[in-house]
Formats: sequence, structure tokens, C-alpha cells
Amino acid sequence: MNKIDFDYVALTQALVKCPSVTPYDEGALQIVEEHLNNLGFNCTRLPFSEDGFDDIDNLFGKIGESGKHLAFAGHTDVVPPGNEESWKYPPFSATIADGKLYGRGAEDMKGSVACFISATSSFIKKYSHNFGGQLSLIITGDEEKEAVNGTKKMMEWTKNNNIVFNHCIVGEPTSNKIVGDKIKIGRRGSINFFVTVKGVQGHTANSQRAENPAHLLIILLNNIISKPLDDGNEFYLPSSLQIPTFDVGNSAANVIPEFARATVNIRFNDIHSVESLTKWFQDNIDKVFTNFPKASCTFRTDQVGESYLTNPGQLCSLVSAAIKEVSGRNGNLEMATDGGTSDARFIKNYCEVLELGLVNRTLHQVNENVNLSDLKELHDIYLRILENYFEKN
Ligand SMILES: [Zn+2]
Repeated sequence: MNKIDFDYVALTQALVKCPSVTPYDEGALQIVEEHLNNLGFNCTRLPFSEDGFDDIDNLFGKIGESGKHLAFAGHTDVVPPGNEESWKYPPFSATIADGKLYGRGAEDMKGSVACFISATSSFIKKYSHNFGGQLSLIITGDEEKEAVNGTKKMMEWTKNNNIVFNHCIVGEPTSNKIVGDKIKIGRRGSINFFVTVKGVQGHTANSQRAENPAHLLIILLNNIISKPLDDGNEFYLPSSLQIPTFDVGNSAANVIPEFARATVNIRFNDIHSVESLTKWFQDNIDKVFTNFPKASCTFRTDQVGESYLTNPGQLCSLVSAAIKEVSGRNGNLEMATDGGTSDARFIKNYCEVLELGLVNRTLHQVNENVNLSDLKELHDIYLRILENYFEKN
């Protein structure tokens, strides 16, 4: 049994000390569960499996029976530390030095999970268990890798159990320079296309009997990069299409190869979807290859993630007001949609969702760390959000 300490620094340390590199948990969810149980939450472990993927444990905790329902979503898994010798302090030691807490996951995002639990404890101590609403924590152990057995399946489980959310805050480290100077109201989607063109091998001197897949791949790639996908819109930059690699692997100068391959990565805004881009890609293939019946072109996709956008509404105003009240800053809060994907993409179809967490400064790096003063600031902001959300002010 771990010691139940709701201090955000102690709790961040306890979580960082669990080497929970996906798919391992190493006691991280247990710590979350014990703290939530102590506050009167009902906790349910949600282990999920799928062929070809690691089994992952997850945790859903809820308090309150009726009224407005706010959820906090986060993850306790972390990326590997890399070469541990390169770290100033061992990556799972949670060492505190120079006003910082060092360790893998300190910033992404055990610090944020700790701050939210700590803020919840402060809130419940102040206003009791009957605070007049519902509060849930959706904590997954599967965010940093495939995210197959995590938030996506947890959200389906909540739906099957008739649990309905009004709003959700994801605790990813979204801040830029100061905690709370930037929130994410959306993310671009991402998709990879792995393309293989099969031609007809032959002698370069007898090209009439062959079909060169390299030529056809070049035509296809040229077609898709020759025109931008879109011009962006009010909340998003234009979508970006990149060709990270194309190769034929043919070392002979007198052989027309049989295969040519390429990878295409698209970071797309909400003008597109995985479905529309997959169709667009197939249409481009059809346009080229109907003229070359001896050749064929196939592709597979992976690491697919849809974009999401929360139109700045109720939750955005409430969160930005809370940030202003706590920080005393009156500057503009940046509402962004940049960066990679996040689990908010799995939540967007259930309720209004945005992301607010620590400063995005050292995540996934050697010597990942978080300022202790930032943990305090985030705790205070989360607490004020709870107070404003459940109308305690
Ligand atoms: Zn993260």
C-alpha cells in the first residue's frame, strides 16, 4: 500500500518512480486508484486486448450521481528513457534539484495527472463529496504507442455503460512558455500511405516488353504534390503532404525493376478525414494506372488519426477565465491546433474537449523535468476550473 499523499509534488514523484514505459504499468494505475478511492471515487479497471497488440490496463474513476459531468483524460504510460547514462539523474528516480522534478513522464504527463488529482482532493475537501455534479478521470496506459487498447476503447465502454460526459479536459502539456498561455482546441489528423507499384521487369534495352514502376510512381507522386490539399481555415494551417521516402532498391543499370515503393505522410486539418483522403489517394492512383494495364498499384495505411476541433464555446471561455483569474495575466490565450495527434481525437465524438497542461519544453527528451512552480500553477488552475465549472464562486 502506497502512502496516500495528495500533494502534487509527492504524487508526481510517486508516479514518476513507476517505470511505466508502454505497455508496462509498474504500479502507476494502482497509485491513481488508491488516491481516487480515498476521495470516494468509484474506480473500474479496464484491461483491453486485441490480436497483434500488447494487453493494456486502464482506469476509469467517477464520483457524483447527477448534474453536469466533467471528465479529465490522461495517461500514465511514458516513452522509453533512451540511454540512461545520458541522464543527469536516473530517469525513474524523480529527483528534485534546482526547483525542478526530473524524470521520464514528469512533463508528459504524470505531473498533470498528479495536479488534477491533487486539485480534485482540494476541491472535495472544500466542498464535500456532494458538490453537485459528476467528475470522472479517464486514465489510460496506452497513449504513447499504438493507442489501440486505451482511450478509444474506454470511451466505447463508457457509452455502453450509459455514462455521458458534458465536457472533457485532456492534460497533455500544451502550454508554450508559461503554464496556461496556450490550450489546444484541436489537432491535425495524420495518415501514412505505404505505396507499392508493381510493374513488369525487363532489360532496359527491351523496354517495350517491360513496364517501369519507377516511372509510374514518379507520375503518381508528382500529381499529388503538384497542388496543395487546401489553404487552411480560421483555426488550422493548410494541410501538409510530405514524401518521407521513395525507393526502388535496384542496383543494376540495365534492369527495369519490378517494384517501386514510397511513403506519403499527410498532416491534415478538419477539411479532410481519413476516409476522404483514402478515397482521394485511390482516385489519384486510378487516374494514373488506368492507362497502364500491365502495372498495378496498391497501398496500405497506418498510424491513422482523425483531426478534431472544438469550436471555442462554453468550455473554452470557462477555462480561459479560470486561467486569467489564477495567473492575473490579461494577455491573449492562444487557442491552437498544431502539433501531433492526441487522445482527444477519441473523445471529440462524445463531448466538447480541449487540452490544457504543463509547458511543452522537455517531453520525450533526456533529462525531462518540470518546474515545481509550474506544478503549483497547474494545480491552482485545475482547482479554479473545478470551482467555476461546478459554480462554487
Ligand atoms: Zn502525452
